[in-house]
Amino acid sequence: MEKLALLGGEKIRTKPFLPHPVLGEEEKAEVNSVLATGLLSGFVAKAGDFFLGGPKVKELEKEFTDYFGTKYAMAVNSATSGLHAAVAACGIGPGDEVIVSPYTMSASASAILHTNAIPVFADVDYDIYCIDPISIRKVISPMTKAIMVVHLFGHPADMDEINKIAKEFKLKVIEDCAQAPGAKYKGRKVGTLGDVAVFSLNMHKTVTTGEGGVVVTNNDEIAEKVRLIRNHGEVCAEDLGIQDISNTLGWNYRMCEIDAAIGIAQMRKLEKLTNHRIELAEYLSQRLSRFPGFTIPEIKFNARHVYFAVPFKYDVSKTGFDRDSFIKALVAEGIPFGAGYVKPIYLEKLFREKICYGRGNCPFSCHLYKGSVNYKQGICPIAEKLHFKELIFTPLCRYPLTKNDMDDIVKAFEKIFENADALRAVRG
Ligand SMILES: *Cc1c(COP(=O)(O)O)cnc(C)c1O
Repeated sequence: MEKLALLGGEKIRTKPFLPHPVLGEEEKAEVNSVLATGLLSGFVAKAGDFFLGGPKVKELEKEFTDYFGTKYAMAVNSATSGLHAAVAACGIGPGDEVIVSPYTMSASASAILHTNAIPVFADVDYDIYCIDPISIRKVISPMTKAIMVVHLFGHPADMDEINKIAKEFKLKVIEDCAQAPGAKYKGRKVGTLGDVAVFSLNMHKTVTTGEGGVVVTNNDEIAEKVRLIRNHGEVCAEDLGIQDISNTLGWNYRMCEIDAAIGIAQMRKLEKLTNHRIELAEYLSQRLSRFPGFTIPEIKFNARHVYFAVPFKYDVSKTGFDRDSFIKALVAEGIPFGAGYVKPIYLEKLFREKICYGRGNCPFSCHLYKGSVNYKQGICPIAEKLHFKELIFTPLCRYPLTKNDMDDIVKAFEKIFENADALRAVRG
């Protein structure tokens, strides 16, 4: 029996996994075509031809409208800025509440705070890790204006139920699709199922421009406001003939031409990259399902899960060693796996203490806000249980890795189970 790497033995995997992303001739040709023109950004904050950006930005946006079949796409410099613009463009501001999952990257909630609205957390579904419609109903108040849905790890949230609630209470639905380009819910692409959706093109995402994001919508008014917020709306709105200037105060959320050019080449690879992820994730899930105490990803709603990460549930009562020891042993074998994903957002100090700015508790103490939101431990017990006890995940089911790489993961699992007694003897 091979000794665990954690206890000084040889690692299962010594060579590093090939990195993400893989850039090819297509990206290089796109970038060179920008360098040849010298136009690094086509944006000018002025009503007119340059208000909507340069040719590559517009071409990238067309890749998105073609792929998603939406009326509009607006490229921005991150999904975080896109989420903020989307929330503001929905007319949300001081005094409003937006319901969001706590089990997501922090920007899903901070985008709400950036409009001075209040994030209210609803718990997640235990099987698919996305916001749970039953929990949403429990936290709706007269101040609720929208639901921010996050399709976590690439599995869609229950959009029919969520849209039903939105209709009943006249709420907007904002989809955070950062982890789910190409995912489908009952045959329909996520990003087209709410009022507005946001994709991320940051370095870690399936298709990337280094940093970047894209907002898509079919709604004329939301598109117009996102464009104003992206590009200094305060000096453009009047000349553009905008009557209602509320929530058009702008930022510089503009994407530069080189990033857009890379995005064009990347978008053309989205399907290939996604199918690769699915193939590896299904292969790995099938191979790991025979180990006691591991539950492979569940697929609901006839979904196309696109596996930004592959989540497994870990049951200590069946494996016999605690989750953190297991992950430490696995990482020591040269296999990157994570425990818990992110801490439920309300447990971060900013939320616990309700401090956004230097002084006071604005926007929580804003006179326009009539509620008193609760960010105490225990408000979303499922998200807490997943984070602190049960969830493990791997980012490894991605291009250009192969089934041979997946086999190394399986070998490391086998080795740890063979050494179960030795691992149990280690204090986690
Ligand atoms: C990556 C991510 C974001 C933020 O994306 P950026 O482009 O880095 O701003 C937002 N939400 C989720 C769920 C993400 O995974």
